[in-house]
Amino acid sequence: MLTVIAPATGKQIGDIPETPISQVDIFYQKGKNAFLQWSKLTVLERAEYLLKLKTIIVEQMEEIVKIISEDTGKVVTEALIADIMPTLDGIDHITRHGEKILKRKRVKTPLLLIGKKSFIEYMPRGVVLIISPWNYPMQLAMVPMLSALGSGNTVILKPSEVTPLVGKCIEDLFIKAGFPDGVVQVAHGGKEVGAAFTNGKPDYIFFTGSVRTGKIIQQVAAKDLIPTTLELGGKDPMIVFADAHLERAAKGAAWAAFTNSGQVCMSVERLYVEKTIYPQFLSLLKKEIMDLKQGNDQDADVGSMTFPAQLQIVKDQLEDALSNGAQLEIGLPPEKWANGMFLPLTVVTNVNHQMKIIQEESFGPLLPVIALDNEEEVISLANDTVYGLNASVWTRDKEKARRVASKLVSGAVVINDAIISIANHGLPFGGAKQSGIGRYHGEAGIRIFCHEKSIVEDNGQKKSEIHWYPYRDKFPLFLQLFKSYFQTNRDWVRFVQYYLRILKKN
Ligand code: NAD
Repeated sequence: MLTVIAPATGKQIGDIPETPISQVDIFYQKGKNAFLQWSKLTVLERAEYLLKLKTIIVEQMEEIVKIISEDTGKVVTEALIADIMPTLDGIDHITRHGEKILKRKRVKTPLLLIGKKSFIEYMPRGVVLIISPWNYPMQLAMVPMLSALGSGNTVILKPSEVTPLVGKCIEDLFIKAGFPDGVVQVAHGGKEVGAAFTNGKPDYIFFTGSVRTGKIIQQVAAKDLIPTTLELGGKDPMIVFADAHLERAAKGAAWAAFTNSGQVCMSVERLYVEKTIYPQFLSLLKKEIMDLKQGNDQDADVGSMTFPAQLQIVKDQLEDALSNGAQLEIGLPPEKWANGMFLPLTVVTNVNHQMKIIQEESFGPLLPVIALDNEEEVISLANDTVYGLNASVWTRDKEKARRVASKLVSGAVVINDAIISIANHGLPFGGAKQSGIGRYHGEAGIRIFCHEKSIVEDNGQKKSEIHWYPYRDKFPLFLQLFKSYFQTNRDWVRFVQYYLRILKKN
């Protein structure tokens, strides 16, 4: 049994039976059998099921919000806007655009392949294993599931053991929506269950979680050359130039650093502020943070932490920074923290790029602020971590914003806002460097779940082809043919002459 403790209250709120590891083969066999029928449906037929799911989610919105909020400790407003809304929007994306994105497409055929037609087809892969984390337990499981299902695959979801009620809720939603047996299966449990399913030879693995686990999964997948998408951690920089709308930037920083208690892969975890406005900006930022209300009632801004082990990571990073000369601007030193899962919202200054607080993912309400000298320096500082998931640039100078954005080694950059690129399902989402491999969302996010198959079609009426046997006497003619074709100014007369001469040799 997975015992469910509500992090905000410490109360036990449920028990979810773990999936026995002995069931792995049965899950895969069931998924494979279901694939035979599910993959035969058209995209529009599969969309019908997704639309039914959408209706159920809309009807049960309040109950789902409650489950997510209790299971994670996040405030209800965030459960709604950052877990449920992106899921519904994900259904709209696949049901509105899936057919066009997955349609057989005709592409140009080069002249050297005269008489043929070329197409691209998208063929579902089979059984897709989706392993998801606890910070946005609905969105980060559902969005890849929807794309995998919409494109004709069957899915095994292994949700996080830290938020098992949401995993159970997802399972129930698909049952209520009437998906055929075996199309969606949910395996509950921890890393042992995740590892057993990873070893079960899925046709694709879509993993969201830590860099550490991502590397393990990639190694296991490599043994059987199983393709993967890895959505991993981040250490996102926010860059505020002196000409930015400072009040907006301060509000934006407070939100982007502390939403979901900082447990966001794209949280602002490093704030670079131009020197000339540094003191002014810091006081604006502090004012914004002081006004935030922590709690678990309907009007609260910041909820609790979700995963107890995460507290230790935040504590270590803060202790390391303070013992190396960092200054606490807001918050408390760890020895003064109250018991429980609510951490003080913390801002520190006087930090340097060697500190853990700057180099390692915090995944908590911890915001280091650094003064910046100039554009070149801040670009190099922003790029100075192993991560590259998201970043933000704040300035009224559009040219500067775009110039800086294009030099950041990052999966996405947001200008004068933060995090929200993930909310546009039309944009590809994913990381650079150790923040991940591959993309989802957008067209790519649907096509990754398919084999991209090239088809070349000949009408089969000619007896032979010029490049087939016999080669006798053809070599000098081919030389002339290719020279006339590839020379700077194509010589059509010679091309046709040599083409016809080769044809005669067949
Ligand atoms: P985690 O890596 O500990 O766990 C993620 C999932 O992997 C869980 O379901 C877990 O049970 C499973 N798992 C753990 N070990 C496994 C193994 N050996 N084999 C198979 N499965 C295994 O991550 P977490 O603590 O749940 O999530 C936090 C991390 O996720 C952070 O680093 C965060 O930045 C990252 N994250 C990334 C994105 C993104 O889109 N890039 C989004 C959210 C979170």
